[in-house]
Amino acid sequence: MSAPIRVRFAPSPTGFLHVGGLRTALYNYLFAKHHGGAFVLRIEDTDQSRKVEGAIENLIQTLQWAGIDFDEGPGKDGSYGPYIQSERLNLYRSHAEQLIKAGKAYFCFCSPERLDEVRKKQQAMKLPPSYDRHCRDLPKEESDARVAKGEPHVVRMKVPIGGELTFTDRIRGKVTIAHKVLDDQVILKSDGFPTYHLAVVVDDHAMAITHVIRGEEWLPSTPKHILLYQYFGWDQPEFAHLPLLLNPDKSKLSKRQGDVAVEDYRTKGFLKEAIVNFIAFLGWNPGDEREIFSLEDLVKEFSLERVGKAGAVFNVEKLTWLNQQHIRLRPSTELARDVRNLVQQKGWQVPEDAYIIRAVDLMKERVTFVWDFVEFSGYLFVDPETFDPDARAKSWPDGAAERVKALTDRLEQLTSFTHASIEEALKKLAEELNVKAGQIVHPTRYALSGRSVGPGLYEMMEVLGKDTVIRRMKSALEKLD
Ligand code: GLU
Repeated sequence: MSAPIRVRFAPSPTGFLHVGGLRTALYNYLFAKHHGGAFVLRIEDTDQSRKVEGAIENLIQTLQWAGIDFDEGPGKDGSYGPYIQSERLNLYRSHAEQLIKAGKAYFCFCSPERLDEVRKKQQAMKLPPSYDRHCRDLPKEESDARVAKGEPHVVRMKVPIGGELTFTDRIRGKVTIAHKVLDDQVILKSDGFPTYHLAVVVDDHAMAITHVIRGEEWLPSTPKHILLYQYFGWDQPEFAHLPLLLNPDKSKLSKRQGDVAVEDYRTKGFLKEAIVNFIAFLGWNPGDEREIFSLEDLVKEFSLERVGKAGAVFNVEKLTWLNQQHIRLRPSTELARDVRNLVQQKGWQVPEDAYIIRAVDLMKERVTFVWDFVEFSGYLFVDPETFDPDARAKSWPDGAAERVKALTDRLEQLTSFTHASIEEALKKLAEELNVKAGQIVHPTRYALSGRSVGPGLYEMMEVLGKDTVIRRMKSALEKLD
């Protein structure tokens, strides 16, 4: 039997959670859950200079908000912790020593100034920057003695001089890299901290990770990681590198062209359901026309085979459309809870739940964001204070007042106040006055809501209720005259 599937999301706590990070986390989560495996959160904080206070908490909070629960990670110990790299430093040091003993790594004493000079020379000769392997063949006694004396040093891995390395990526297929393009990478820094390359390999092995699913920007590092697996004599995990995220103009998704923090979308009012659905499609698709997926649906359907190689365009219009779709799918009772809070925040009188649910049902198909319920149809909760001046000429033409007055009289007579009885009364009046129904509908809507657009008038009137409708029509007749 093959080993249980274990995957990880391994962010560096350098600030907010990027939408690309959320995609990596989501794909790992989906893959793990689809296969009944474990999803591990590991914090890669070995670059202490880039560490941002509060970033870990923020990251965990955002993942939880999105419903991407990890099985093991900070605060959720499995048997592979600790899950924060700065708490595992001894492990990396002992592994670096192991490689030195085996002749697979070496101490390097080159000063920053020397490395700078080497780089400048390479630049002048139009060569790619790389370490010139100055310390690679120092006699063992000499380098041991220099370390013992306390001379500053790093540890570098020894990359084979000739030959090439081939591996199979689950998304990109066969990848071959010549050893000569790989640098003798620093694996342990002078401060005793490992670099990403050593820490990631040691931890993925120690945490029994079976599949490394991460962004394409890490593809060039993978050959170095594979060499390290070989040097340690470990089985390597499978690799899957997710396609780049692009702006609509096909440039790499960056801060400059809009928001890239998941939080920004959250505060803009996007539902987590829409964000998760949207992010899932940045590189993956179900192979048919379906576009609306819940997290559970995604778990059922997700496979790496359906992740493409081509860059995925981050299209906010699509996200907006998905938000509409997910609002429609959300139970009205749940939406009503959010709307109730928004009404409260506005300082408006909070109606009873049944009323809010009716208002939600009325508008559900028409809103893009949850706050549209109060921003664009606040008249469902408070009498309009103003009447849209731009719509006045069209919505309140000559004769409107008389027609609205006549309708008010008719509605006052109604014993049952339903959309059907309202419609009947209005149409009958139109016939008697020999006008089109619209000539009463538009001014009435304007009187009731202060606006020229909205949901179906009869349904809206039924939701508002007879008292409110009559009160507003009378008050509008006074104000608009
Ligand atoms: N710490 C790396 C990052 O910040 C993780 C890359 C990987 O998944 O190997 O994205």
